[in-house]
Amino acid sequence: MRLESFAPRLLHWYDEHRRDLPWRSTTDPYRIWLSEIILQQTRVAQGMPYYLKFTETFPTVTDLAAADERDVLRLWQGLGYYSRARNLHATARIVADEYGGAFPDSYAKLVQLKGIGPYTAAAIASFAWKEKVAVVDGNVFRVLSRIFGIATDIATPAAKKEFTELANRLIPADHPDLFNHAIMDFGATQCVPVSPVCLFCPFAGDCEAQATGRQAELPVKEKKTKVRDRFFHYTVLQSGTRLALKERTGRDIWSGMYDFWLTETDTPGGKPAGLPADLAARAEVSPVFTHILSHQKIQAVFHTVEVPVDFLLPEQLKWYTFEELEDLPKPVLILKYLKGRYQF
Ligand code: SF4
Repeated sequence: MRLESFAPRLLHWYDEHRRDLPWRSTTDPYRIWLSEIILQQTRVAQGMPYYLKFTETFPTVTDLAAADERDVLRLWQGLGYYSRARNLHATARIVADEYGGAFPDSYAKLVQLKGIGPYTAAAIASFAWKEKVAVVDGNVFRVLSRIFGIATDIATPAAKKEFTELANRLIPADHPDLFNHAIMDFGATQCVPVSPVCLFCPFAGDCEAQATGRQAELPVKEKKTKVRDRFFHYTVLQSGTRLALKERTGRDIWSGMYDFWLTETDTPGGKPAGLPADLAARAEVSPVFTHILSHQKIQAVFHTVEVPVDFLLPEQLKWYTFEELEDLPKPVLILKYLKGRYQF
């Protein structure tokens, strides 16, 4: 396939199939950046309400920077990968404090900024300022590997370099923004991971994967992520209409969010530690809640026990009324439990 014919065919396809998305009609680097962070590992339909909530609550990067981290996490609740929300907030603070609230206006300067990687910098620079720099994400790997028959393992740094160089040769100087939107849409709706729409494809006939029947084999990704099994035993201390929770700290999942007193064991069937025997005997034990994260499978059991008003809580725990609980950022696993038991 001739390299020069790639962009015209892709842009022609985009003309007819473009998705109308709110972040496509802006050149505001803040909104573009926000949409890119929200859409990482998230489908458009799921990310859209979050984009709208964030832009309404924090219309500028300075508003986001001035927010309390707890409020940012609360707004992010349900979207998962909470480190994204914390990094988002940290980067907003850098832009507000060190750059006076204005994003640096070129790819080269954007990638220098802590929290902005090559993909996000390329998206901002091309969409906001029409800089000729290609985005390279999972969609781009898939589309280019299939059309050009590239079998390099996309989990390797060599592949990143190879695909980035190719994409930067393909991107046209006059419409780099449309090209980047187009290739992402093409990967998301036409050249999809399973059952790509080859029959009505503008590249059919010139696509290596289609010609050789290797659509399912390309792109090549050797490294399989191992899933870690974790077993959580939550102690839910309740006193009337208050529940005892703690903020999660450290480098584990859900840092900055709130959950109950937690005991973790290596195998299923363990028990929460630290509960006096008489209380443990009275605890109501929930069925197992299974919660899947990208690299972890959590099986959680909640042991709920009513304690007197003057019960002395361990230092990390604090009482929260249901109303106060509403405002705390909570992992979806905790929300599921609260909804099931308290119709929260
Ligand atoms: S022919 Fe099929 S595999 Fe090739 S680019 Fe089109 S949709 Fe993708």
